Amino acid sequence: MSTSESDYRRVLEEHLAQVDVELAERRRAATPGGERRGFGKRAGDYVAQVVEDRTNNQLADSLAVTAAAIRRALDLIDEGRFGRCESCGEPIAEERLQAVPWALLCMRCQSAGEHGDRSSALRRPSR
Ligand SMILES: [Zn+2]
Repeated sequence: MSTSESDYRRVLEEHLAQVDVELAERRRAATPGGERRGFGKRAGDYVAQVVEDRTNNQLADSLAVTAAAIRRALDLIDEGRFGRCESCGEPIAEERLQAVPWALLCMRCQSAGEHGDRSSALRRPSR
């Protein structure tokens, strides 16, 4: 069974809304500059807060990456180029798009990027 672009658009828009909410919560939870009232008596409290801030920031960063990919995927639907690998231009497998509708790369290019140098025999980055 085939999933139409309007189905993907709906899924992407719904997911983007969720990611934006989650992202705003993480950004709010993370303390900018590490300053926080109510701590200072015990070093452990401060360390725990720093660790929590870092976790929130890391989550926020990965959410921001996902949000950007979703926006890009929505742009590609508008441009009529959705479902093609941004790197090699080959169609992205439908199972992959159904699992990750904001996938911008085909499996091959994705794993080439993730494994870095080990796959450089297959595809070497241009810089
Ligand atoms: Zn590709």
